[in-house]
Amino acid sequence: MARGRLVIKADRCKGCELCASVCPKKILEIDNKVLNHKGYHPIGITSEEECIGCGNCGIMCPDGVINVYRES
Ligand code: SF4
Ligand code: SF4
Repeated sequence: MARGRLVIKADRCKGCELCASVCPKKILEIDNKVLNHKGYHPIGITSEEECIGCGNCGIMCPDGVINVYRES
């Protein structure tokens, strides 16, 4: 199965969790240990090896925070 690699521009994330809501693998979670310069806890990936590269998160994010690169 194809895998994905995510590049998350955490400083642009507003922590709305829309991306997490559409991830079929449920591997996107707010990272409460990090505070970005907008004052939000940004999204993080809990288990990148489980990412299937579907791209849902990147499409859903209204702020273009996540880029998904598919690796076959
Ligand atoms: S590419 Fe798909 S599986 Fe990977 S983190 Fe985004 S929504 Fe989840
Ligand atoms: S990455 Fe985008 S969709 Fe996900 S929490 Fe951050 S701003 Fe919201």
